[in-house]
Amino acid sequence: MYDFAYHKPASVADAVKLLSADPDARPISGGQTLLPALKHRLNKPSAIIDLSGIAELRGIRREGDKLVIGALTKHVEVADSAEVKSAIPALAQLAGTIGDTQVRNRGTMGGSVSNNDPAADYPAAVLALDATIVTDKRRIAADEFFLGMFTTALEPGELLVAIEFPIPEKAGYAKMKNPASRYVMAGAFVAKTKSGVRVAINGAGPCVFRQTEMEQALTANWSPDAVASIKQPADDLNSDIHGSAEYRAHLVTVMAKRAVAAAG
Ligand SMILES: Cc1cc2nc3c(=O)[nH]c(=O)nc-3n(C[C@H](O)[C@H](O)[C@H](O)COP(=O)(O)OP(=O)(O)OC[C@H]3O[C@@H](n4cnc5c(N)ncnc54)[C@H](O)[C@@H]3O)c2cc1C
Repeated sequence: MYDFAYHKPASVADAVKLLSADPDARPISGGQTLLPALKHRLNKPSAIIDLSGIAELRGIRREGDKLVIGALTKHVEVADSAEVKSAIPALAQLAGTIGDTQVRNRGTMGGSVSNNDPAADYPAAVLALDATIVTDKRRIAADEFFLGMFTTALEPGELLVAIEFPIPEKAGYAKMKNPASRYVMAGAFVAKTKSGVRVAINGAGPCVFRQTEMEQALTANWSPDAVASIKQPADDLNSDIHGSAEYRAHLVTVMAKRAVAAAG
């Protein structure tokens, strides 16, 4: 680890002030990604801005036809929340499959979505549910947020504050997980929302993406059979020691079928 300064602000305004005063400062939430990066000297921030003392970043609440989840909400809190289980059960189920008990007790929704790891779970839910990302400066639609591998629309020093999830008619999630880390090899989150049917694929490509052919098929016929013969092209998918692009392409169809079955 390199040396760095440490700050623990008590409000979003103070955190933003610290971040804008120092372009090399980085926020930390659960530390499940940033801490290993610091330990391996892959990151050299001048200062760490610890968000864990900011009460306004916490909490899960229902506001009319949407669920608002604070950035600092831990995976275990989403998995165990009666509010989430009742409004969007697939989101609670997804949170309960992230990593292991230790990761779920430290990792946060805001940290995971800001990080945009291609193999992370939450980005698929955010994209398929047509969620809105609320920052200290603006509101960003999910379709505009995930730009590429570990890249989002967040500007340097911009803080993710909360995510607003419109409550869908139906939603389901299925993933093939790496048996060691539980990170996604390929996953599908399907949702019937006010803005139509949306299918988001994670783990398979360099960034979460929408599978529009499946969306059209499910709009015509909401059933696992509707996606069974749709093949995801392997051209732009990830290939690594865990699985080839062709294997991941195959998994996309299998996971989409399972996700629709789970949604009911
Ligand atoms: C062993 C292991 C297994 C895992 N398995 C899975 C898995 O199966 N599925 C999965 O989805 N994830 C998995 N993870 C990742 C984990 O779920 C965390 O969610 C993820 O690491 C980031 O969340 P965090 O709160 O720890 O963020 P941090 O590590 O604190 O931060 C991550 C990045 O986001 C930035 N950041 C943090 N909060 C904010 C904010 N509010 N606004 C703007 N930027 C911010 C930080 O500066 C940093 O760049 C795993 C992690 C480990 C260590």
